[in-house]
Amino acid sequence: MLLAWYDRHHRELPWRTSPAMATQGKRADPYHVWLSEVMLQQTTVQAVKPYFLKFLAAWPDVNDLAAAPVEDVMAAWAGLGYYARARNLKKCAEAVAKEHGGVFPDTEEGLKKLPGIGDYTSAAVAAIAFNRQAAVMDGNVERVISRLFTIDAPLPGSKSAMKAKVAELTPADRPGDFAQAMMDLGATICTPKRPACALCPFNGCCLALAHDEPERFPVKAAKKAKPVRLGAAFVAVNASGEILLRRRIESGLLGGMTEVPTTAWTARVDGGTDTSHAPFAASWQAAGIIVHVFTHFELRLTVYRAQVPDGLRTGPDDGWWEPVTNLDAQALPTVMKKVIAQAIPSAFDESRKFR
Ligand code: SF4
Repeated sequence: MLLAWYDRHHRELPWRTSPAMATQGKRADPYHVWLSEVMLQQTTVQAVKPYFLKFLAAWPDVNDLAAAPVEDVMAAWAGLGYYARARNLKKCAEAVAKEHGGVFPDTEEGLKKLPGIGDYTSAAVAAIAFNRQAAVMDGNVERVISRLFTIDAPLPGSKSAMKAKVAELTPADRPGDFAQAMMDLGATICTPKRPACALCPFNGCCLALAHDEPERFPVKAAKKAKPVRLGAAFVAVNASGEILLRRRIESGLLGGMTEVPTTAWTARVDGGTDTSHAPFAASWQAAGIIVHVFTHFELRLTVYRAQVPDGLRTGPDDGWWEPVTNLDAQALPTVMKKVIAQAIPSAFDESRKFR
């Protein structure tokens, strides 16, 4: 009944083939499935669509992505977050190109050996691109399963029990469509608030609906408060309208991404917050504070701005001067876009607010 529902109500997405084509044996391209699934791990379908199309236009197949300069890949990824995933995306493409002749392995086990591919992505690619009977479980599927079976144990501890249920339900015939159907059902019908149970193909057997308590599921462990970290960021603008940028070291949070100079904050240690920590002496003016929430902590950066003369030398390793009009082409993570927009409100398009 779920597959019949999917045949009629599936979402049209640029990385998918229709169920009708899938039943004729025309499967989605593994490169498209892999790329979209990695991107979807951090954000919504709507946010991913333009990134997916941008990547496909720039690098139509996995060999093109493998050959691309890593800076270009990071710049194209900027704004999606979790930048380690972008670095692993590139490494994975290189492994597929060099070690597998540009062809993705067609089993969960083979896929899992590639850089950056874990349980979820290997199952999704194996099921959707290769029609393997793999149990695929993302947040949407967790919600559906926890409601169908009224799983009371809290997440994340109950994940393995939920996955066992998904494995039991996944059919040998059309496992890829089943996986996508569960995702679509969670995204469009079995929503976190006010699920549309009247339209759901499971409404005759769903235990949460029978007990009139769908919204109680999934049960989640109480979240710990995130620690707050402090630091400062320094936006230097010269007379030509350029700002000083530098590249972060490859390892660690936002590794390899572009930034303005900041104090040495980390997930565990505060950085300085006053101008004594500026990268060089200038007439630094406070421009406000921005807040950015990472997975494990909240960062509050005091932003300073200074107008400096052209030709200012700030040190041998201190980066480069970039026209403010060219910031969209830089691999700036969202936290840095917030910083720059705080210091220079006109730096980005009006339509894109980072504050
Ligand atoms: S019947 Fe309602 S709660 Fe149960 S799976 Fe369907 S939409 Fe979700």
